[in-house]
Amino acid sequence: MDLAHTPEEEEFRVRLREWLAKVLPALPPKPSPDDWPARRAYDLGWQRMLHDAGYAGLHWPVDAGGRGATPTQHLIFLEETEKAGAPYVGANFVGLLHAGPTIAAEGTAAQRARWLPPVLRGEEVWCQGFSEPDAGSDLAALRTRARRDGDHYVVNGSKIWTSHAEVADWCELLVRTDPDAPRHRGITWLAMPMDAPGITVRPLRTLAGSAEFAEVFLDDVRVPVANRVGDENDGWRVTMVTLSFERGTAFVGEVVACRRVLAELAVAARQNGHWDDPVLRRRLGRLNAEFRALWRLTQWNVSEAEASGGGTGGGGVPGVGGSVFKLRYSHARQELYDAAADVLGPDSLDLDRPWVLDRLSALSYTIAAGTSQIQRNIVAERILGLPKGR
Ligand SMILES: Cc1cc2nc3c(=O)[nH]c(=O)nc-3n(C[C@H](O)[C@H](O)[C@H](O)COP(=O)(O)OP(=O)(O)OC[C@H]3O[C@@H](n4cnc5c(N)ncnc54)[C@H](O)[C@@H]3O)c2cc1C
Repeated sequence: MDLAHTPEEEEFRVRLREWLAKVLPALPPKPSPDDWPARRAYDLGWQRMLHDAGYAGLHWPVDAGGRGATPTQHLIFLEETEKAGAPYVGANFVGLLHAGPTIAAEGTAAQRARWLPPVLRGEEVWCQGFSEPDAGSDLAALRTRARRDGDHYVVNGSKIWTSHAEVADWCELLVRTDPDAPRHRGITWLAMPMDAPGITVRPLRTLAGSAEFAEVFLDDVRVPVANRVGDENDGWRVTMVTLSFERGTAFVGEVVACRRVLAELAVAARQNGHWDDPVLRRRLGRLNAEFRALWRLTQWNVSEAEASGGGTGGGGVPGVGGSVFKLRYSHARQELYDAAADVLGPDSLDLDRPWVLDRLSALSYTIAAGTSQIQRNIVAERILGLPKGR
């Protein structure tokens, strides 16, 4: 594995830095976390700027409209945008990081042409309708039913924890198309327009205060058969592709953000005297080692993917190694914000600073995209080859 950057990659970094220095000062202020329509407009606006400058879909394959950049360039992009304080994907999370890549990998030419350009151009937002009240970890237990009626599916059921549902244009939706088949074999992956009649979105307010996600009720919703990605009843296989993007690559950029927060904490600790406490210093040092290791793990993952001919820019699908990353990253993030509370003391409860909301939302990272227990099962069974629990 060669982690040295080529002259082209260094030039890419310099040009990106110059562009960020030019455009970031002119960005409007970030909207309040509660104002989802404003957040949607802000996130799409940033995506449009990236698109116009040629930075949209860096990690997407060229034939899907992406830049086909090397994985290393993608990592450089994540590092530099974070360092410069640029906006993160926000409401574009699902479209850019897992629905879009799934369609790029599994969709037909017509589906790619319809759905991918608006994601890259910052025109449409996607959400994910996988989880149901009795089908979270056990996703194959899902019951939302889709019945074929001519050239449409008629969908009935409900979804829960659907992030960004309030402001989404499209939903990557899992439905049961054959209730009599073994449970993994009767599922289908559909792209559902969120303005179709029969959809009710009921926002859920989280501990962190914002209505981040929603319950979605589906009552005789008609979805064209042409919106099916993959074959009917082959949705479980397509879902595995979506989840491998979600766990394998979607959170990578946030490790860079955690490294910045840690550096800020070290500065704060020096200023307020906590740095003199050897126990706290050791804790921050261990976290530093952890985030550096996670970044190296990321480099290793993308380097391996590149060597096997399936780099992120080439449209390859990440492997189950993403579960190792997701498991460790989500715990390290919680430990980081616990340490922040100790360094900042009462200031860490100051609602005018980002710490409180980030600390509260850190809890959810060990649940979203599959809980830690589920990631451990995957690591045990698929990486270590241990016997299945059931
Ligand atoms: C911030 C956030 C955003 C989310 N966004 C979305 C979204 O946009 N779209 C979407 O579809 N879903 C979303 N989810 C839902 C998420 O994927 C589920 O919450 C998750 O898969 C867990 O499912 P559950 O909540 O039903 O818990 P359950 O499956 O009921 O699990 C309860 C507990 O039992 C444990 N458990 C269950 N089965 C096993 C097992 N076999 N072995 C060991 N332990 C087990 C779990 O680890 C957990 O601790 C989001 C969740 C969060 C927190």
